[in-house]
Amino acid sequence: MTDCLFCKMVAGDIKPDTVYENDEVLAFRDINPQTPVHVLVIPKRHIATTNDLEAGDAELIGKLYLVAKQVAEQEGIAEPGYRTLINCNRDGGQAVYHIHLHLMGGRPLGWPPG
Ligand code: AMP
Ligand code: ZN
Repeated sequence: MTDCLFCKMVAGDIKPDTVYENDEVLAFRDINPQTPVHVLVIPKRHIATTNDLEAGDAELIGKLYLVAKQVAEQEGIAEPGYRTLINCNRDGGQAVYHIHLHLMGGRPLGWPPG
């Protein structure tokens, strides 16, 4: 997708603050962090929202979580804990329409969210 911000990062046209990368997944720091650690974990393949997921994407989504687990360890938040979430569409608060798993931690997080 040429007009997608996160696809431009995957293509190298925009350089994120990358914390992890492999063939299928990219993880980088959120530009407007809401927590001391705030990393976005994305599939390199463009998928707009969780509504667009298909059965064949199951393994890829699992890999996002495995990368989040690894980055949490790297960032020192695995033991105290953290939150992972994917926003979907307007009511979910999605602003960038390329699926991204938020990895948030570094302080106690409130629940429920607003
Ligand atoms: P969401 O609201 O779930 O779609 O989250 C989009 C996230 O992308 C927000 O937390 C933004 O701060 C973040 N974001 C937007 N532009 C950039 C960028 N250029 N680099 C890193 N993070 C970004
Ligand atoms: Zn994209």
